[in-house]
Parts: sequence; structure tokens; C-alpha cells
Amino acid sequence: MRESRRRLSGALRVHEIYDSIQGESTLAGMPCTLVRLAGCPLRCTYCDTPRALSFDAGEMRDIDDIVADVARRDRPLTLVTGGEPLAQKSSLDLLAGLAAARPLVQLETSGAFDISRVDARVWRILDIKTPGSGEESRNDWNNLAHLKDGDEIKVVICDRTDYDWALDILDRFQPRVPVLFSPAWGAVSPAELAQWILEDHAPVRLQLQWHKHIWGAEATGV
Ligand code: SF4
Repeated sequence: MRESRRRLSGALRVHEIYDSIQGESTLAGMPCTLVRLAGCPLRCTYCDTPRALSFDAGEMRDIDDIVADVARRDRPLTLVTGGEPLAQKSSLDLLAGLAAARPLVQLETSGAFDISRVDARVWRILDIKTPGSGEESRNDWNNLAHLKDGDEIKVVICDRTDYDWALDILDRFQPRVPVLFSPAWGAVSPAELAQWILEDHAPVRLQLQWHKHIWGAEATGV
């Protein structure tokens, strides 16, 4: 008990917590509670959560309170996203607390921060940044060596240059986790990306953002 209390101490700035359907990843379609942490030092060209980029967005909440909120909602999947969750140091304690309390926890991270200290029970989604994102230089390539079972790679593809670049990266690093290519909304059509993947026998999956197809691209809190 004393150990548990120690691990759950601390607080983070939370932009929002809400229930939805996981719209991405190999777990797409699962009912899910999303914990969106505030703040991100990156500025990707296609970012669809600009409201969460400021480190002043949202409100400070105790880790105990966040974990209890998520537990009350009782969804089979918890996703910690942002913003960039790992930009807040206490996110490591939050992830450990959630992993101890909930059956399945995913973390979506930009890949700009070290993932090696994330609780091993958490499934990491490493969002590799392409040239089209404008943030390619922020990729910490050491993270690829820390990927394990349950983890996966996401790449948002803005154009054909991004697609070819991403295939070169996969060829170079040979990751042993699932790789999902997602068309940047409004920049590449799903049909176009599907065609490239099929033509090249690319070792990836096509990913769509189901929440945008269900509720629309501008909807928030769903
Ligand atoms: S890393 Fe994510 S939250 Fe940060 S700017 Fe890029 S898309 Fe937006």
C-alpha cells in the first residue's frame, strides 16, 4: 500500500479525459477512455489537436484523481495521448499507475522523447515524424531499439516523398512491431495510399482515423 501511494503521487496538466472509440492503432474500434495531456514542444504541419499544444492548456490534476476517473469509466482500453504526454515528467508515474489499475493501456508519443523508462506494461505507439510533418529532426532514433511486443509504429504520410522516406526508414531499422501508415487528413487520400502500399508490397498496414469518419474531422471530445 505504501509503495502504491508513493507511485501515484504527483500531478499533471490534463487537457481532457473522455470516452470514445479508439480511432487508430491495431486496437482501432475498441471502446476507450482517452487521457489527453496538455503541452507539446513540436508543431507538426497536420496537428489535429492544436488546442492541447500549450503547456498552460487544461488543468492540473493529481495522478490519483486521474486514475480514479479512468477506473470509474471502466472501458477496456485506456489511451494516454496529447499533446506530447512524455513532455511532462510525471507522465511516467501516471502511466505506471494506470497500468497497475487498468487492463490495457496505450501511450501515443511523438518519438521525440525517450520511451525506455515507460512502464513495460504500457503499449507504446511511436509516431515517427516524416519530412512532411516539419518535425523530422525531432525523431529520437534510439527509441526504435526499445520497442517490444505490444508496441507499434505509426507514420502519418503527407505525400509520396513521405511514403518513400518512411519505407527507407523501415528498411534501415527493420522494426519487429506492426507499422501503420496513416494518410494525412486532406493531403493524401486513403485510396491513393492503399494503392502505393499494394503496388510496393509494403510491409505496413493502412490506418484510417475512425473517429473522424464517425464524428467528422472537426469534432472534439469524441
Ligand atoms: S507531436 Fe502530436 S500533438 Fe505535437 S504537434 Fe505533432 S501531431 Fe500535434
